[in-house]
Parts: sequence; structure tokens; C-alpha cells
Amino acid sequence: MVYLPLLSSRKSISLRTPICSFDAMNGILCPQCESKLDSGKLTKADVDASIKLMHLSQKIPQIEKFTLNSCHESNGDFVLYLNPSDIMTVRQSRELYRILQGEFNGKIWLVEEGSDDKKFIEDMFFPIKILAINQLWAPGGVRKTKVIVSGRHTPRFPIDVEKVVAISHDLRKIELVVEFERK
Ligand SMILES: [Zn+2]
Repeated sequence: MVYLPLLSSRKSISLRTPICSFDAMNGILCPQCESKLDSGKLTKADVDASIKLMHLSQKIPQIEKFTLNSCHESNGDFVLYLNPSDIMTVRQSRELYRILQGEFNGKIWLVEEGSDDKKFIEDMFFPIKILAINQLWAPGGVRKTKVIVSGRHTPRFPIDVEKVVAISHDLRKIELVVEFERK
């Protein structure tokens, strides 16, 4: 493996990623990160997202301040675990969201690092308002999480509810039942 010289030493890097900044910058993993990937501590999605964000951070100052804690791939979509302030920054700028989404082949979902199930669900449904989240016990002792979403499920509803259900199950083992306020 050949190490390229650090491409940008002109300014300090402040974007934080699950791999080393050097690796993210050059698109090559150091032996430590390589072994984390082999042992499953890091995933390919973590590595790819780190490199993408590092590239963007070179051009977009807001992204330089981000902390990418991890990236999870789920059925072709990508869930990015960011810090709360990073998510706020993206939500305030349609343009920034568009640029970020443009880097990924699947849809991106932005969720807060270290959040509980309730916050995770709220982030997945953003910008749609959640009216209530309740725990249900289905026959057989299966715990389900019922979400009541404001409004009606129109064809123009901006969130793919089936994807939210699938990703919540895949990443957090949440059995989501989604209901709308109005039928
Ligand atoms: Zn490394």
C-alpha cells in the first residue's frame, strides 16, 4: 500500500470522522483503520461517508465543523449519525442538504448520535410532526412502537414510511406501527 502525501496541510482539519482525517483526506486506510474495518468496528459505509464528507468539507465551511460519528447502510440507504448542531445546520439549508444528498447513491437520513428511540424516530420523520409515540405489546409479548403522525397520508407525503419502518427495524430493532392522525 502506497501512502500519498497529505494533500492539504495548508489548513487544519476540523471535520471529525470515524476514520483518521488523513485517511479520509487521501481515500486510503492506515493499518489501524484497516484492522477496525476487518474486525467490523468500522463498516464500508463509515469509510465511504468519511471520505465523501471530507471532500465536501474542503469546499463547504459548514461541513468542516461536522462530526460524523458513523454511517449505517440499510437496504441501499444511508443513515448518518451526526451531532445535533450539525443536523440543525443541514435542516436550515436546503442547498446544503441537496449537496450532501448528491454525494450518496441512496437516500440519506440524518439522525442524532446517542439518541433514544423516540428521538431517532422523530429524526427519521423530520420535517413531519409526530403527535405521539407509544409502546404496545402485541400477542406473544412482542413490543411494538406506535407512532401517530400529524395530518393525513396523502400521495405528496414527503417521507417514505415503509423505508422508515424497515430502517428502524434494521438498525434499532424497533417494530414500528405508523398511524396517521386523519384517515
Ligand atoms: Zn486511520
